[in-house]
Amino acid sequence: MSFQFIRDDLSNQKALSRFRTVTTAASLTSGTISIDGKEYINFSSNDYLGLNNHPAIIKALNEGAEKYGVSASASNLVTGNNYAHQALEETVAAWLNKQRVLLFTSGFAANQAVMQSLGKKESVILMDKLSHASMIDGALASEATVKRFLHNDYQQASVLANKYTDKDLLVASEAVFSMDGDTSDAREIASIAKAHQGLSFLDEAHSIGVFGDEGQGSSNQDIDIVMATLGKAIATSGAFVACNEELYQYFVNFARHYIYSTAMSPAVAWATKKSIEIIQQESWRRARIKSLSSMFRALLDDSVELLPTSSAIHAINVQQEDKALAISEQLKAKGIWLTAIRPPTVAKGTSRLRVTICANHNDNNIKYLAKCLNEVLV
Ligand SMILES: *Cc1c(COP(=O)(O)O)cnc(C)c1O
Repeated sequence: MSFQFIRDDLSNQKALSRFRTVTTAASLTSGTISIDGKEYINFSSNDYLGLNNHPAIIKALNEGAEKYGVSASASNLVTGNNYAHQALEETVAAWLNKQRVLLFTSGFAANQAVMQSLGKKESVILMDKLSHASMIDGALASEATVKRFLHNDYQQASVLANKYTDKDLLVASEAVFSMDGDTSDAREIASIAKAHQGLSFLDEAHSIGVFGDEGQGSSNQDIDIVMATLGKAIATSGAFVACNEELYQYFVNFARHYIYSTAMSPAVAWATKKSIEIIQQESWRRARIKSLSSMFRALLDDSVELLPTSSAIHAINVQQEDKALAISEQLKAKGIWLTAIRPPTVAKGTSRLRVTICANHNDNNIKYLAKCLNEVLV
């Protein structure tokens, strides 16, 4: 029988407690999720600033749809680029203090576009071991030599860079690591790249909106290429790449995910511009994540180990897949939605509970979460 691997892989996945199913939520409102008629406090959302469903963003979405259209109806290079896109690009460029910005329909596509267009035969892509699947897949699908350095080990990254002095070097990492919540050092990444006349790349998926005085993310001005998704703290969908004029021109001409894909919905672009304005003005949302996070840490039993973090992501490593799943089920029975994260999303033996604390959680939500975690973990 053909495609026997389909059946084999699925049954293997079940045997390993790695089988995944899609859960459909009836609604997602401020800090909660409603599934099969039951409401849960949601600690698995990436809506870090609590902006999903914000009335001003919904209003901008409607206004954008009426003025500029629901669909772009073409790629940016054909006729898909309109005023809503241009306005968003300019807003992001000013926010991050970068010359130019390109929009993509997803962060996954944006990362692939950057890695594949810069990953030529003469390139070496050095990447943190914990980088997102979209960065890894993009790099591996390119013509470049790809080397992954140990997590946040810039010593090792430098040693690797020194082996390829005759190559074009791209040093890539994430600002906040999605499954651990810890941060990279943008200055180190930029300086390794600079020492080899190379380029530096930072994925700000989990830091955009959350880090920086105006939520502009963590990267300092030395980073050459910044990617951020719009579907997390910014609470719309799509992604951007910010860079200098020359790189912008290169991506416009050679990034296949940009050239051969329908432009982002103009309505979404218009809503995103509004969301960024709110993010710049409302620093209390960032402060709230910090204060709720300190409260959470303080309330957890000393025996519960949180990975160190300054982000909204708090990971508790429970190691085995089945244990992570069982805890997730126990919490569900108590009205808490906390998805178990298992391989291959994380390394074998590091299955975890990934708690995200959002600006729209209230004190009682956090107290209740800590109490329930103490009950099931201690
Ligand atoms: C979510 C995520 C992406 C992908 O972004 P989408 O817009 O969801 O496709 C890329 N990188 C990291 C680190 C992410 O967490």
